[in-house]
Amino acid sequence: MSTAVIVGSGPNGLAAAVRLAQAGVQVTVLEREDRPGGGTRTSELTLPGVLHDDCSAFHPLGVASPFLHSLDLGRFGLTWRWPDVDLAHPLDDGRAGVLSRDLERTVASLGPDGKAWRGLFGPLAEDFDALAEDVLRPVLHLPRHPVLLARFGLNAALPATLLVRRWEDERARALFMGVAAHAFNRLDTPLSAAVGLMLGAAGHRSGWPVAEGGSAAISGALVALLESLGGTVRTGVTVRGLEQLGDLSGGAPDLVLLDTSPHDALSIVGDRVPDRVRRGLARYRYGPAAYKVDYAVDGDVPWTNEECRLAGTLHLGGTAAEVAAAERDVSRGRMPDRPFVLAGQQYLADPSRSAGGANPVWAYAHVPHGYAGDATEAVTAQIERFAPGFRERILATHVRTPRDLAAYNPNYVGGDISSGANTALQIALRPRPAADPYSLGVPGVYLCSSATPPGGGVHGMCGANAAESALAHLGGGS
Ligand SMILES: Cc1cc2nc3c(=O)[nH]c(=O)nc-3n(C[C@H](O)[C@H](O)[C@H](O)COP(=O)(O)OP(=O)(O)OC[C@H]3O[C@@H](n4cnc5c(N)ncnc54)[C@H](O)[C@@H]3O)c2cc1C
Repeated sequence: MSTAVIVGSGPNGLAAAVRLAQAGVQVTVLEREDRPGGGTRTSELTLPGVLHDDCSAFHPLGVASPFLHSLDLGRFGLTWRWPDVDLAHPLDDGRAGVLSRDLERTVASLGPDGKAWRGLFGPLAEDFDALAEDVLRPVLHLPRHPVLLARFGLNAALPATLLVRRWEDERARALFMGVAAHAFNRLDTPLSAAVGLMLGAAGHRSGWPVAEGGSAAISGALVALLESLGGTVRTGVTVRGLEQLGDLSGGAPDLVLLDTSPHDALSIVGDRVPDRVRRGLARYRYGPAAYKVDYAVDGDVPWTNEECRLAGTLHLGGTAAEVAAAERDVSRGRMPDRPFVLAGQQYLADPSRSAGGANPVWAYAHVPHGYAGDATEAVTAQIERFAPGFRERILATHVRTPRDLAAYNPNYVGGDISSGANTALQIALRPRPAADPYSLGVPGVYLCSSATPPGGGVHGMCGANAAESALAHLGGGS
């Protein structure tokens, strides 16, 4: 029987492990923390009984991921829960752009721009499953749906700042810009519309749900499935070199998949990495950082806009132009006065996360790479701006700065939670231009983290794709 070691138990590491175990490979996952899950952990960060997602919270790509969807994770304890409103983007005048999985509800909410929104997102949502088969793979592949991919590509190639000009009202413009800002990059550069189109289309395909009990339920289900296939997860093990793996997994494995940053992969694999691969990975760039603030709140957040009171996710940054300016600043290393903030009210869809009258509110701001200042007040002020009176309801706060995030998970280099800048080059060709972007140039050794295609987010597709490359190396199975 062939053997594999996966270093790191984030959603991509676990997806790779499951795919290999499905093919009959004996899999061991090694994780440095004492709990598996990487960016899918859930903890009592503020008050006893109040559950906060340490990292990922909303899962438009998780629920729509071709690989995760194929696993029937419901059998292993994963239940998706949807808020009444998937996403809201409040404006200073009290209105809000509202994205709902029901496309017609969104169309109706966008006034004069509803029809143009339907024209853009209707076809993408309808064909989302086919589109995902091509977009969630490396760029250099033979497309399965070339016409669909070309249609998507025409808009995806645009700067987000150009694409929003098709709408006349600020609600639609700001709504799209906030979704595009998930790319954590400048929004006036080519390809910066791509992430907004994918996440928006995924939202209209299947919403932006949360996992019941917290995002840890996603990794919990993947671990349970892996174990049912004979795989094992060992926690509290930091891998520093390939030579460790023989001892840790009972003999040198046939395959090694690294759910790590490219730079940690280089240091783990060491001198065996060929020069051309080493040079390519050494050029890999990291992007801006997250500054995370979790709140325990007495009751609900007093949003001015009523739809915001029903929304799972909120994008707080004002107009499209303001969001684009804030993202440009952080990409240039400058902290804006009003950073773009993502806020989450997961408890609306999943009340099991609250304790008594205390509800968890999740938030993070986009800040410059490695930002060492204090952005807690800036995050609170962005919430207060659209929800006057929020401050008085705060019962407790927990903060993770970019440095804390990098210490929590070495894949978040400088606080970059996407494990790599989403520049046009790195959206298209991450982590380096190569026919097989997962290969580290050493037979049987692969990178499988979100530094590989299709990039950040809890969808498991980087891991599943890397596992396919590894299986091809084994000759189609073990
Ligand atoms: C604040 C925040 C909010 C986010 N919000 C969302 C969201 O709402 N929706 C969404 O889809 N995504 C979100 N993300 C991003 C998402 O969490 C990541 O894109 C995703 O977890 C990446 O998965 P991964 O498997 O590539 O790596 P990770 O999840 O980072 O896992 C890597 C694992 O490898 C382990 N590891 C690393 N090096 C070693 C080593 N040498 N030895 C042993 N173990 C090692 C780490 O400890 C970690 O457990 C968010 C992230 C953060 C931090």
